[in-house]
Amino acid sequence: MSTQMQESLLELITQTSTNLPPDVRRAIKKAQLQEEIGTRASIAIDTIVDNIVSAEEDVQPICQDTGMPTFIVHCPVGFNQLRMTEDIRVAVEEATKLSKLRPNSVDPLTGKNSGNNLGAGTPVIHYHQWERDEVEVRLILKGGGCENKNIQYALPVELPGLGRAGRDLEGIRKCILHAVYQAQGQGCSAGFIGVGIGGDRTTGYELAKEQLFRPLDDVNPNPTLAELEQYIMDNANHLEIGTMGFGGKVTLLGCKIGVMNRIPASFYVSVAYNCWAFRRLGVVLDATSGEIRSWLYRDKEEKMERPTGGFSTDQAIVLKAPISEEQIRSLKVGDVVLIEGEIHTGRDELHKYLMKHDSPVSLQGGIIYHCGPVMMKDDAGEWHVTAAGPTTSSREEPYQADIIEKFGLRAVIGKGGMGAKTLAGLQKSGAVYLNAIGGAAQFYARCVNKVNGVDFLDEFGVPEAMWHLEVKGFPAIVTMDAHGNSLHKDVDEASLLKLEDLKDPVFA
Ligand code: SF4
Repeated sequence: MSTQMQESLLELITQTSTNLPPDVRRAIKKAQLQEEIGTRASIAIDTIVDNIVSAEEDVQPICQDTGMPTFIVHCPVGFNQLRMTEDIRVAVEEATKLSKLRPNSVDPLTGKNSGNNLGAGTPVIHYHQWERDEVEVRLILKGGGCENKNIQYALPVELPGLGRAGRDLEGIRKCILHAVYQAQGQGCSAGFIGVGIGGDRTTGYELAKEQLFRPLDDVNPNPTLAELEQYIMDNANHLEIGTMGFGGKVTLLGCKIGVMNRIPASFYVSVAYNCWAFRRLGVVLDATSGEIRSWLYRDKEEKMERPTGGFSTDQAIVLKAPISEEQIRSLKVGDVVLIEGEIHTGRDELHKYLMKHDSPVSLQGGIIYHCGPVMMKDDAGEWHVTAAGPTTSSREEPYQADIIEKFGLRAVIGKGGMGAKTLAGLQKSGAVYLNAIGGAAQFYARCVNKVNGVDFLDEFGVPEAMWHLEVKGFPAIVTMDAHGNSLHKDVDEASLLKLEDLKDPVFA
């Protein structure tokens, strides 16, 4: 790193990735108090808090998915934006080398990961000029699990549970509630939503994402939107989707809504969903020296204590590969398990590969982990895990049942649950789906004792490679068993009924 500006930007990236802002912490602490001790939601939220504390202490990524780095820069007239872009690129590359960012920039045609978070369209940088003499840089790191739960509605539209959403405030209200419902636990709830009303398909989504930069405790200057935000916050928790979609009292932690003009033919409501790992920070920089003058979102400090709750391991069932079919069939939804021994990471590229090829290692009786870890190689050439929470499992739905049957897998670890095809596959082959706590990347990295090896590193890149990890005391909850039961299906159905309760007009 050669310039002060680059150093300051590296500090912004590091802090954003590792240290949740105070307003987000306050929202999570409030939710922690609302959940009943000992429930699945309470276990999940305590694990999240434990993870937040570890990430700050160790200056490591809160979640392994550090998303698409998106910078919003305000600068004085005449400021050199070309040089700033280069400074941001240098800082992003350095943060990736230091494992504060996971290499996340992938060519969609070749599947090649650039390895340094630089590439076409990466990172995202938006510039705005202003009359002040200083530079403000805001950054959001929004991971794929929640990005995939963004949704855009073109009104009028028919919505499950809510009926017709027309081109008025009532229709907007229904779209926002539906957006929370459809995310279930897959975006690592409890979440935050930014909503953009109006615009076109592109600017509507931009407006929605912009809302995520608002402090959680601000009040919308538009009284109609302020009332709508309050309504959503008061009612979304009625859905009882809960943390990780386990069911629970808290489903939504924040809602911010913006509006812009539309053209007569189009009426969009765009929703940007952000997981609990709501990583956004900002700095005000001296335009000449590049030094940090002040931080944004850090007006009031909010310390978090390591919780005493979380997984109770006393009655947990130990699973160690190779696992017998008999042991798997004795498990039921709700059981807490502790995984020991070797597990193998596998995401989209590996699942696609295994459909047509052999596995480089035996998976008979084995455990696959939907995870794209952050890894670091030491001077001796040894790999170490620095962040390793689960990724969204539903992406593997087209493959999972076939892979389980073909290789004799007994357990799949992930988050957010899987669908009907996998559920039938679990029943047929004798396997279970284990839900780990999404985003708890430091918590789970602590459970990895050793990296036994890696396959497909050059072909697939770090997140998609098949890492062979030796784990100890790795806790998870059975959420889909070998008897056709699925907690995810149950929570989805129950929350749809709850959504129907909110069908009647409120703003008519
Ligand atoms: S907390 Fe969940 S949704 Fe958020 S970035 Fe991490 S894995 Fe993705």
